[in-house]
Amino acid sequence: MKELEQQVAVVTGGSRGIGRAVALRLAHAGADVAVVARSEEACASTVEAIRAMGRRAWALAADVTQTASVENAAARILGQTGRVDILVNNAGITRDMLLMRMTDEDWDAVLATNLKGAFLFTRALLRPMLKQRNGRIINITSVIGFTGNVGQANYAASKAGLIGFTKSCAREFASRGITVNAVAPGFVETDMTAVLKEEQRQAVLARIPVGSFGKPEDVAHAVWFLALPESRYITGQVLTVDGGLSM
Ligand code: NAP
Repeated sequence: MKELEQQVAVVTGGSRGIGRAVALRLAHAGADVAVVARSEEACASTVEAIRAMGRRAWALAADVTQTASVENAAARILGQTGRVDILVNNAGITRDMLLMRMTDEDWDAVLATNLKGAFLFTRALLRPMLKQRNGRIINITSVIGFTGNVGQANYAASKAGLIGFTKSCAREFASRGITVNAVAPGFVETDMTAVLKEEQRQAVLARIPVGSFGKPEDVAHAVWFLALPESRYITGQVLTVDGGLSM
């Protein structure tokens, strides 16, 4: 029997990039996976790949910033499976701009997606985990949450907030068998970082001790580790996956 067999995972932002790699890694370990993105079509390729592994998979269209949308998605997944064992709050966006020129919309959109989205999904799926007296919640933060970055005040605030959120939830749920941890990637090659200019990429690369950018699978490996039953004694932690960038 595989290590996550008979478990159900929900991965937000599972359509692409890190979330897709996480969904596939958990499925490879035996989990059935609900893949969340803003449209069902966006989830289709991840869902297909999971089903090809012989696991159950569901495409869930939900906007993580909207309470009703999240609660509706949570009800749909619970209606199908009756349980959720692993929640990965991964959906995230950037709206980079120097603070002087940052708009209210840039600030609000990033905080709503990266931070409020994790709050809404955690609250929506907490009850079944409490009942089961078992659960794994893994929030995808960023090294920017502890280093800060020019042009990313909104993003850094959201990711630092996610770390405080992670630790508070870890304390609240610990006695019920639910662990809550964060994974902090450095620079990972996805659509999010593809928009950066070559000189920006090279400047970051020069600061990474292992000498290469991260792959989505590098982050997925850390999530898999924290999701394992054997990780039951690890909670409230931030596991950095950055090739040494932020040490
Ligand atoms: P990405 O390739 O841009 O993918 C973002 C994902 O989030 C997509 O699946 C997108 O789905 C989903 N999403 C965005 N807004 C959403 C919303 N309102 N409701 C539901 N889903 C939404 O990004 P990535 O690089 O894989 O990043 C994933 C996570 O890792 C983010 O939290 C990011 O901050 C974090 N991270 C990334 C890096 C990096 O270097 N790439 C580094 C540190 C941390 P649709 O657009 O299909 O709806």
